[in-house]
Amino acid sequence: MPGLDPATLLIASCATTFLVSVQFLVSWRQAPKARCLAYWGTAHFIGSVASVGLALRGFIPDWLSIGGANAMMISAYGLIWYAIGQFENRKRHLSLAFSAGLAWILLCLIPAFYESVAYRVMFASTAATLYCFGGAWDFWRGRAEPLASRPFAIGLMVFYGFCYLVRVPAALLLPLPAPEAALSSYWVGVLCLAAMLFSIASAFTFIGLVKERAERMQSVAARTDSLTGIANRRAFVEVAEHLIATRSDTALLLFDLDRFKAINDRYGHEVGDAVIVGFCTLAAGTLPKRAMFGRLGGEEFGCLLIGSSPTSALNAAERVRRAFATITLPQFPDLRPSVSVGVAHGTDDGAFEHLLRRADEALYEAKKGGRDRVEMADFVLRVA
Ligand code: GH3
Ligand code: MG
Ligand code: MG
Repeated sequence: MPGLDPATLLIASCATTFLVSVQFLVSWRQAPKARCLAYWGTAHFIGSVASVGLALRGFIPDWLSIGGANAMMISAYGLIWYAIGQFENRKRHLSLAFSAGLAWILLCLIPAFYESVAYRVMFASTAATLYCFGGAWDFWRGRAEPLASRPFAIGLMVFYGFCYLVRVPAALLLPLPAPEAALSSYWVGVLCLAAMLFSIASAFTFIGLVKERAERMQSVAARTDSLTGIANRRAFVEVAEHLIATRSDTALLLFDLDRFKAINDRYGHEVGDAVIVGFCTLAAGTLPKRAMFGRLGGEEFGCLLIGSSPTSALNAAERVRRAFATITLPQFPDLRPSVSVGVAHGTDDGAFEHLLRRADEALYEAKKGGRDRVEMADFVLRVA
């Protein structure tokens, strides 16, 4: 490479890969549950040792610098792919990460393979390409989890896979350097530079992914009700306020389980909890798919229906009320839970607060009217 000495680049690449491995392992100590960081760290460590082995070509026996170092390098990519699988919760055997490295060692025992630089380059490059593309594919399949660094991670693995892929036809078409000049070849320089950039970029991207996931999980937990797994009051109100501001054909259904304190007192808190979870499961399965459902507190739930007529909102509430009234618990045959519902439709000023107040008034009417019933709030134009 003009101006860039391949041997110097090889040393720089060893050092960079080693530092990146340390960075991964330090991050892993801070987040011990993210085992992918440990695997990525190990992969880069193996990669840096392999680079040393390649750099010492001519100073150490060939079987070590050709056979051993390349097997380690291929395994490093295998381990990177395996770690991506760990990050994406894919169950696969660790031996798959080392299978191509092992195949390399076995092939090196065959003289026709060992003596052909073209064959060796083709096999090693194909293995690295497949591991890189496999990693990109795993990241792509996990795209339902939106993480800012995910597109970069996919791009990085695809790009690096291509860097290796072009070596396959190149090994066949371009003249290969004589074995004694292999280390000073153009390709070694290009690959070292690519490896260095890949190591640095993967440290930023993969550590970023782990951090982004942790932040996302924290934010989801802060917006989720721990007992039922549905949106909590904070999340419900936040989304509802946003949606209502732009639409007037909106209905709010307020559910409150009837005489729930008595259920707790008679059957115990755990049974009360089971009734709450049971109600959520039933409501989620009964309400329209587009409905937004959340727990507003204790035994009170809200459902926001966007683009709904007053009649369809009433019908949705009635379906849930009726279905819940038929629920029985085999262990407690005399436990007959029921729910009262207050429904309010439309907003006079786009404020969720008013819709909530009207639904609450309707709910109060349902309770007053004997419970286990649905009441609709009148539409009253309020003037501020
Ligand atoms: P009403 O028909 O008028 O709604 O009567 P109620 O007994 O349901 O109303 P009240 O608001 O007096 O009681 C609500 C009860 O819900 C009181 C509280 O102990 C219970 N509760 C609140 N959160 C939970 C929970 O997470 N689990 C259980 N098991 N009980 C809860
Ligand atoms: Mg209540
Ligand atoms: Mg109640």
